[in-house]
Amino acid sequence: MQPNTLSHPFSERQERLRALLEVRKLPLLVVSNPLNIFYLTGFRGSAGVAVFSEAGAVLWVDPRYTLQAYDQAQGVDVLEEKGVLLKAAGRWLGRKRFKLAGYDDGYLTCAVYRQLREWAPRNLRLKPAGGLVEELRCVKDASEIECIRQAGSLTASVFEDLRQQIRPGVRESDLAAEVEYRMRRGGADGAAFETIVASGPRAAWPHARASSKLLKKSELVIFDLGAILRGYAADMTRTIYLGAPSQRVRSLYNAVLEAHRWALEAALAGETTGNVDAAARRVLRHRWLEKFFTHSTGHGVGLEIHEKPRLARGERFRLQAGCVVTVEPGVYLQGLGGIRIEDTVLVGAGEPEILTPATKDDWFIV
Ligand code: ZN
Ligand code: ZN
Repeated sequence: MQPNTLSHPFSERQERLRALLEVRKLPLLVVSNPLNIFYLTGFRGSAGVAVFSEAGAVLWVDPRYTLQAYDQAQGVDVLEEKGVLLKAAGRWLGRKRFKLAGYDDGYLTCAVYRQLREWAPRNLRLKPAGGLVEELRCVKDASEIECIRQAGSLTASVFEDLRQQIRPGVRESDLAAEVEYRMRRGGADGAAFETIVASGPRAAWPHARASSKLLKKSELVIFDLGAILRGYAADMTRTIYLGAPSQRVRSLYNAVLEAHRWALEAALAGETTGNVDAAARRVLRHRWLEKFFTHSTGHGVGLEIHEKPRLARGERFRLQAGCVVTVEPGVYLQGLGGIRIEDTVLVGAGEPEILTPATKDDWFIV
């Protein structure tokens, strides 16, 4: 039988990590963030400590996870540890006589760092090396893209199906519950984040939670939703107007839609994420709306709903083919409400591919 490379991408990811460690002149990295361990090995437990080095990779788990780790973890030696995992890792580092180790200072708490310091040999220098695995995670491989594509298409179809239920008199929280139910029925692990349904003046709060408020005629309603599927998230926002929109509401919606299009056209491999943000901002500035655009244009999506890179003012991260990011300009006006249009997109050789393909043109319900 031919090996299925799509389902075993972990050796390649570990290879990329080793290459990155070499560039940073680090002989090894101690990893304890469960998402990063999952990314590098496929082990989905909520606790574990792994060491990746030129001399091989080891994963320590407690007895709750031994069998699961044997089954899931690839490219690492799995060791069961009944005591403190970092103690086992520290002793191993001592036996291997390493002099320098990187650790994730962005994730490890001070208390856990002290544990590691206590158990590692005295002559081992611990160097902060946070964000290395997150850097690798910015560029998705084929199996990750496939997961996000499925999560995105499920998210879009859940919203398309929900449209018939969007009408005056319906409660925001009922629509949010319906979204999450439909995601699970559609095969998702669940919702990647708490679904936002915010209507009327509440739509002016970019992160409003769904409340018991009833939808009313002549209101804007923001829906921000995303399924998580096989560990990977999607993120999408659509804005709906209930009734026939006034000229003012129409021009606001079209301005946000145009900002979205320009940002999308700028989201090319080789472009900086700061320029993508600037493209959206420029459209809104020309319409005197920039001051109502109160957040950044987007963020990376993958194992986490918000991950590197940021698409924000002045950011210099260069997009590459395989980056998955959101494009989500919005305007928020006190009293009137808000309009946000968000897609999760895949950066490629040409124009990015929209992974959350729900309509943006059919936006009012009369
Ligand atoms: Zn969102
Ligand atoms: Zn988002």
